[in-house]
Amino acid sequence: MKRTAFFDTKPYDRIWFDKLEKDFEITYFKDKLNSDTAVLCKDFDAVIAFVNDNIDYDTVQKLIEYNIKAIAMRCSGYNNIDFRAIGNKIPVLRVPVYSPYAVAEHAMALFLCLNRKINKAYNRTREFNFSINGLQGFDLNGKTAGIIGTGQIGRIFIKICKGFGMNVIAYDPFPIKNPDFEYTDLDTLYRKSDIISLHCPLTSDSRHILNSDSFSKMKDSVYIINTSRGGLIESESLLDALKSGKIAGAGLDVYEEESELFFEDYSSRIIDDDILSLLVSLPNVIITSHQAFLTDEALKNIAEITIGNLNDFFAGRPLKNQINIS
Ligand code: NAD
Repeated sequence: MKRTAFFDTKPYDRIWFDKLEKDFEITYFKDKLNSDTAVLCKDFDAVIAFVNDNIDYDTVQKLIEYNIKAIAMRCSGYNNIDFRAIGNKIPVLRVPVYSPYAVAEHAMALFLCLNRKINKAYNRTREFNFSINGLQGFDLNGKTAGIIGTGQIGRIFIKICKGFGMNVIAYDPFPIKNPDFEYTDLDTLYRKSDIISLHCPLTSDSRHILNSDSFSKMKDSVYIINTSRGGLIESESLLDALKSGKIAGAGLDVYEEESELFFEDYSSRIIDDDILSLLVSLPNVIITSHQAFLTDEALKNIAEITIGNLNDFFAGRPLKNQINIS
């Protein structure tokens, strides 16, 4: 029986992966995969990894040394992998789509919560404070949503925005054919949008796509939603724009320096990240820790597709979900 090492395991992963039949064995490790923990891969045939595993040059060298034959990412993004180090030595598989609805719906949940101050209202009423002063938001109907990235998730988010009666404008270097929304350039999107939601991957082109320059071009009191990758936003500039009031609020499911923090319980420790501490402390920022994907449907699809990818690999069948970086 082939053996796979599963990294960064959480209880909800095991529920779904254990439930399904597979042609290989899984050993679950709580550790994230990185150059220190790669030694755990000795005697395994493949690894299953996630968004905050660090598959950098040193880790890859160790995986090659231990003769790992496949890396199965149980996510869609792969910005945490050094593909130059991998070359064509180890095939990397992924789950291209598992539930765009999960992420798009979470993006709208963050925005609705911020705009209608649900987080504040919840805290107030729990203390029998029934005052509504300062809780006003605005109607979404007739407002403009600017969407950066019109792939699977961006397009569902657009549908949701349209359901609220919003005008939608979007930017994507690879626009779809016959869209039922308007494409525009980034500067126009910044100038016109009442809310900007990021749905593009993190690449060398998109890193810090939102920075002090782009914030300065935006409408006053714009809302920023990021459920894609933390590195899309220059965090310090975001903090400045929030402090100055340029930005009315930010809903963040991802953060540039999340890899050591998100998914872990730091509630009784002081975290060593001043920017994140300040962001968390602001009344108009809501942070969730990379949970936009976390629905029953998404977890089931992630497990089924990851297991299918590895079953295909071990059986020598064609790999429909292999990442090809040319
Ligand atoms: P997708 O590949 O279907 O779509 C991405 C779109 O972004 C494509 O249309 C592409 O042309 C566009 N794009 C590429 N570079 C761009 C740029 N510089 N500016 C604007 N657009 C650009 O991906 P998807 O399934 O819609 O996922 C989008 C992102 O969501 C992923 O890259 C991933 O980082 C993130 N994600 C987050 C979670 C979560 O739990 N928070 C879960 C899944 C995916």
